Amino acid sequence: MIHVQFPKDFLWGTATSAYQIEGGHDADGKGPSNWDVFCQQKGKIKRGETGDVACDHYHLWKSDVGLMKKLNLQSYRFSIAWARVLPDGKGAVNPKGLDFYDRLVDELLSKNILPFVTLYHWDLPFALEKIGGWGLRDTAYAFGEYTDVVTKKLGDRVKHWITLNEPWIAMVAGYVLGAHPPGKIRPFSSLKVAHNLLLAHGISLSHIRNNVKGSIAGITNALTPVYSLKRNQETRAQRRCHAIMNALWMDPVFKGKYPDEIADQVASQNKDNWQNEDMKLISQKTDFLGVNHYSRMIVRWFPLPLYSFLPVTPQYPNVSFTTMGWEIYPPGFSELLRWIREDYGNPPIYITENGVSLKDTLVDGKINDENRIDYLQKYLLELNRAMAEGSDVRGYFVWSFLDNFEWHEGYEKTFGIVYVDHKDPKRPRIPKKSANWYAKVIREKGFRWE
Ligand code: BGC
Repeated sequence: MIHVQFPKDFLWGTATSAYQIEGGHDADGKGPSNWDVFCQQKGKIKRGETGDVACDHYHLWKSDVGLMKKLNLQSYRFSIAWARVLPDGKGAVNPKGLDFYDRLVDELLSKNILPFVTLYHWDLPFALEKIGGWGLRDTAYAFGEYTDVVTKKLGDRVKHWITLNEPWIAMVAGYVLGAHPPGKIRPFSSLKVAHNLLLAHGISLSHIRNNVKGSIAGITNALTPVYSLKRNQETRAQRRCHAIMNALWMDPVFKGKYPDEIADQVASQNKDNWQNEDMKLISQKTDFLGVNHYSRMIVRWFPLPLYSFLPVTPQYPNVSFTTMGWEIYPPGFSELLRWIREDYGNPPIYITENGVSLKDTLVDGKINDENRIDYLQKYLLELNRAMAEGSDVRGYFVWSFLDNFEWHEGYEKTFGIVYVDHKDPKRPRIPKKSANWYAKVIREKGFRWE
C-alpha cells in the first residue's frame, strides 16, 4: 500500500460549464446562444435533447453550493454564459444576467469556496454566430468587450480567470467535424478560426489585467498525448496530429509563434486576417496553464488535406474504455505533464478537468461507482508522480460536479460525481460514492493506494 499525498496548499475542486448545467435558456433577458439554436435543429443532438433546462442550476444554484460545501470542495470552476450578460454578444448589458453570477460568487465566497471562472466554454451568443462567429476577427473584439463587462462586475472578488476552454474542440468540432455549432466542415478556413480564438484569448487577458487587481489568469487547453500506430516510431501522422491538436494552442501562448509543422498553413489561411500586433497579444504572460485531460490518442496516416491522421482504436489485452469510447490510459497523464514541463519551461498548471463517463446504476437510491473511483485514483497517482518529477501543478478539478448535458451526446453520458435525475422536473441530486470518496481525499489531502 502506498500513501498518495498532495501538498497542503493544493487546490481541490470540481468543474462545470454554463450551457451544460444552467438551463434557464431564456430566463431574465438572456439572449439565445449558438447551442440553444443548434439543439433545435433536427438530428444534431442524440435523442433530440437540449440544454433548455439541463440541471436547472439557474434555479438550484444555492443548494448546489450547499452541496459543494458538504463535499469539502475548496474551489468551483464554472463558466459564464456570454448571452446571459450581453444578449446580442455586444452592446447592451443585461443586468439580471450579471446578477446571477454576482449572487453565485457571493454565495461561494460565503462558504469559503474559491470561484474559478471560465469566460468562454463554447456558448457563443447567436447574434454573433449568425454573422460569422469565430470565422470573424471581430468576434475576438466582442469577446474583449464581454470580458470587460464581466471583470468590472466580478473582478473585486474573483481573482482566478480562464479566458477560453479548449479552443481546439471549439475549432475542430465546430468547423471541421461539424458536430458542434456552427456545424461546418471547412478545414481550409479552420486555421483562421484558430487564430481568431487565440486572439480572443490575448485581448481578453488585457481586459482582465486592466480590471482585476491581483488577477491570476490563464487559458485552458484540451491536451492529449499522441502515439503512432507503429510503436515507438515517430510518424508523419503523429507529428501532424500533435501539432494541430496540442502545439497549435500552446506554442503561440508560451513561445509567441505557431508550430513549424503547420505555420505555413496558418499563415496562408490568415493572409487577410493577420495583424502585426496579434502575436504580442496572444503571448502575453499568463499565470497558469489550465489542462483538461481525459485519454490518449493513437493515430495513423490518412490522406486528408491538412488533418492527415485518423484515430485508431487501441487493441491489447485488458484495454478498457469509458462510455465515451475513450481508452483509460493513466500513464498518458504523467507523460503529457512531462512534455509540458520540458517544452514550455514548466509553467504553473491547474488540472481544470479530468474525469470519466461510465454507466452508473441507481440501486436503492445509491450509486456505487467504484469504477469511477478507480479511474480517479489511477489518474491522481500519475499526477502525483509528475509533480514528484517536478511539474508545477497547483490544483485539480474533477469533471464534473453534476451529471450534465454532454453536448451532442445529450444526457446519456454521465461524468458527474453527483447524479442528477434528468427525468424528474425537480432534477434531484444524489452524490455518488465517488463524491464521498473525493470529499475524503480533499480532507486528507491524498489517499491510500491498495
Ligand atoms: C469539455 C467539457 C466536456 C468534457 C467531456 C471537455 O472537452 O470541456 O465540456 O463535457 O470534456 O467530454
